[in-house]
Amino acid sequence: MRGVKKEHLPTKVCAACGRPFAWRKRWARDWDAVRYCSDRCRGDRRAAVAGPVATADGAR
Ligand SMILES: [Zn+2]
Repeated sequence: MRGVKKEHLPTKVCAACGRPFAWRKRWARDWDAVRYCSDRCRGDRRAAVAGPVATADGAR
């Protein structure tokens, strides 16, 4: 076999810009947690900067 088509790669929809994006090698380890197509989209939110989503969970 040869010529693996990129179309075979899994895809997701960016949570920031809403555009579909394909799997990338850089996400091989964190693909399950990837939600944004790029660092730009990930940093769209000014609140959280590269870190776990720390919301006021369980504060009801
Ligand atoms: Zn995006």
